[in-house]
Amino acid sequence: MINKRKTPPRGPAALIRMQGDVRDALAQALDSCQGLAHLPKQGSVFLKPNLVGLPSKFSVPPFGVVTTTALVEALVRLLKDHGVTRLFLGDGGLVNKEAGTSTQATMDILGYPELVRRYGLELVDLNQGPFEEVTLDGLRLKLAKPLLEADFVISLPVLKTHGQCKVSLALKNMKGGLHRQSKAACHDRGLNLDRNVALMAQALYPDLAVIDGRYALARGPMHFGTAQRADLLIAARDALDADLVGAAVIGQEPGQVAHLVEMARLLGRDLTLPRPLGGVAIEDVRLNLPWDFPWADEWTPAPFAKAGVKGVFMPKYDASLCTGCSFIFNPALVMLLTAGAGKDLDGVEFLTGKAAQPSGRARVSILAGKCIVKELGGDPRLGRVIKLPQCPPKLQDIQDALRQAGVAAELDSFRHFMAGLSKRYPAERGFDPADYQPGAQA
Ligand code: SF4
Repeated sequence: MINKRKTPPRGPAALIRMQGDVRDALAQALDSCQGLAHLPKQGSVFLKPNLVGLPSKFSVPPFGVVTTTALVEALVRLLKDHGVTRLFLGDGGLVNKEAGTSTQATMDILGYPELVRRYGLELVDLNQGPFEEVTLDGLRLKLAKPLLEADFVISLPVLKTHGQCKVSLALKNMKGGLHRQSKAACHDRGLNLDRNVALMAQALYPDLAVIDGRYALARGPMHFGTAQRADLLIAARDALDADLVGAAVIGQEPGQVAHLVEMARLLGRDLTLPRPLGGVAIEDVRLNLPWDFPWADEWTPAPFAKAGVKGVFMPKYDASLCTGCSFIFNPALVMLLTAGAGKDLDGVEFLTGKAAQPSGRARVSILAGKCIVKELGGDPRLGRVIKLPQCPPKLQDIQDALRQAGVAAELDSFRHFMAGLSKRYPAERGFDPADYQPGAQA
C-alpha cells in the first residue's frame, strides 16, 4: 500500500537568471540539475503549482502569489517533448464563496482550460480527494491520492516568503495536497506548524522542485504582501536542496527556517547549502525580503500606530491561524484601520485562531472563528463577547461584528484596498499580466 512518497536521489541544484524565452531558461535549469534524469519513460507526471487562491469576485494582482502560467506551460511543453503522455496539473486551493476563490476559479483565471485544450493534460482539484489517511508521529493527515499515486511529482512553487513559516517554497507547497481538515490540523493550538509542515512534506515528497522566481513576494503568501520582479529560477531533484537555495536567495538563513531544519532532521541530513550550478551566485541575487508584518506592541498592528488608531486590542496572528481565518484577518485589520484612523475605539478586541489570549482590558471582545470561540468562549478576561462561531467567519459577519462593537466598519473599505493593490505593480517596473496566461500558440 502506498502511504508516502519516496525521496528522490539527490543531484545538483541550479540557480538561473530567467532572461529571454522562459523555455530556454527552464531547459537550462533542468539540464544543470539533471532534473529529468529519473523521469519514467512511461507513467504519469503530476505538476503541483502554487494555486493558493485568486478571488473571482475581487480583482487582485497575481504577482508573486501564484505560479506563472508561462512557466507551467513551458514545463508542460518540455515534458511533452520528453514523451510524457499522462500529465496531471492540480492543487487544493483556498475555498471561500464570498470572495469566489476555489481551485477551479484560480485555474480559470490563469488560463488553464486553454492548456488543457492545447496539451491534453488533466486538471485536478486536490480538495475533491480521494484521500488516504496516515498517522505521522502522532499527526493524522489525509493525503491526496492523486499525488501519492503519480509516478513523478513536480513541485512548482513561487519564490515567496510566508508570514508564519518564513518561506513557502517547494516543500511547503505540497500542503495543497492535504484534505481541508488536515490543513487546519497542521495549524494546531500548540503552534507546531513547522514540524507539521515537515511531516506533511516528507509524506508528499516531490521528485523534482522548480521554484518560479519570475516574481518574488515579500510578506507572503497572499496578495497582501509586496511582489518584485526577480527573474530567477531555482531547480533541484531534491526539494530540500531547492528550498535551501530559495531561502538563501530570499535572504533567510536556512538554519532559522524551522520547517527546513525539521525536514533535514527527518531526512537525517544537515543544512549545508548546495552550491548551485547555472552561473549565478546566491550573494549576487540575494533579495532580503521581509516575511513578517510588524506590530507596534503586543496589541497594536504597526499601521494602527502610524494612523493613530487607538483603543484596539488585536494581537498578532500566530501559527494556529489556518488559511480560512488568515483570509479574514486582513479584512478585519483594513476595516478597523479605515474606520479608526485618528480615533479612540475605546477597547475593541479582535481575537482569532486557536492560541490568542485576551488583554483583560477590552470593553468588547470579538471571537472570530469556531476555534477561538471554543477556546475562550467563557473566559472571564473577555469584555462583552461577540461570537462568530463559523469556520471561517464570513467577511460580512466581520463587518457586522465590528459595527456591533461600535466601529463604523465598511466592507467596501476592504474592497477598495484590494482594488488599489494593482497600482503597486506598474508595467514599467516589469509587472506583466501576460505571464499569467498561456502564451501565443507556437
Ligand atoms: S475556525 Fe479558523 S482557525 Fe479554526 S479551523 Fe476554521 S478557519 Fe481554521
